Amino acid sequence: MGLLQKILIPVLGLVLAFCFYSSRENFKPEMLKGKRVIVTGASTGIGEQMAYHLARMGAHVLVTARTEAKLQQVVERCRALGASSARLVSGSMEDMATTRQLVEVAEAELGGLDMLILNHVGKSYFNYFDGDVGHVQKLLNINFLSYVAMTVSALPMLKRSGGSIVVVSSMAGKVGFPFTVPYSATKFALDGFFSSLRQEFSIQSVNVSITLCILGFIDTENAMRAAADVLLMSPAPKEECALEIIKGGTLRQREVYYRYASTKLPLLLRDWAAELLDLWKFMSRGEE
Ligand code: NAP
Repeated sequence: MGLLQKILIPVLGLVLAFCFYSSRENFKPEMLKGKRVIVTGASTGIGEQMAYHLARMGAHVLVTARTEAKLQQVVERCRALGASSARLVSGSMEDMATTRQLVEVAEAELGGLDMLILNHVGKSYFNYFDGDVGHVQKLLNINFLSYVAMTVSALPMLKRSGGSIVVVSSMAGKVGFPFTVPYSATKFALDGFFSSLRQEFSIQSVNVSITLCILGFIDTENAMRAAADVLLMSPAPKEECALEIIKGGTLRQREVYYRYASTKLPLLLRDWAAELLDLWKFMSRGEE
């Protein structure tokens, strides 16, 4: 036992750290050249930034969200940045017809799909849970069920290309946080579904990777408006966050943590000293 603690565990830690960091260094932007990628929730925030990175890398970009005018601007900028092609499908992810249309466009106009980036998120509130069950149901439809529907529809194309599914989640999908009860529930659901599906792909030798992205506080306009006055931590930049997600998906990592230290530490606390997480009230500007 003594030997195990003193030598084996540190050595294992070093090997894991080496694997983690060496695989991150292998990323090259050329890996995305000519790849066919769908980015959902790409009219603003992290999704918009992912579209621009992919465009610079020469990918075929298919973006979606509800606001067509904003998507049109994103598409034009993608073309200017060097995308192999840039297209849009506008519509709500509450409507299953949107998910079907996206997949049909990818099939008909791009001839298939290499990467599906599921990133969109429905509007919620940042406050104590108000008991509105209808809101939880609506949010589950947008943040969870549409991710499942997109995956099911796109899977035949992804199997053909040996492609990747990238699921953008949150610390609130790994650890319970106050003020985000409905949102947090939808993000936990993503972890349950996609982490289980990854295991089944492995058993069935399905060559489609699933990358779950665990994000901390990022400086998108909507997140800043909702949480900047409440959270004491400083937000990380959306441009860098977008790039880390793309890298993780391209390298077929199981999970991406951004930023690494600020997302991994609460997870260690969750597993080893969950009571410390209840001290959250000292880390926020919530009511006494
Ligand atoms: P955001 O700026 O609020 O953007 C959300 C995107 O989703 C927009 O493009 C929006 O476009 C689209 N959308 C909203 N409702 C939709 C619907 N019903 N149907 C289709 N599209 C819809 O979000 P973000 O801050 O970039 O976050 C992106 C992802 O990162 C989300 O999954 C979020 O949970 C995760 N995340 C963010 C943070 C953060 O601090 N920012 C932290 C942890 C995790 P339209 O309004 O035009 O439809």
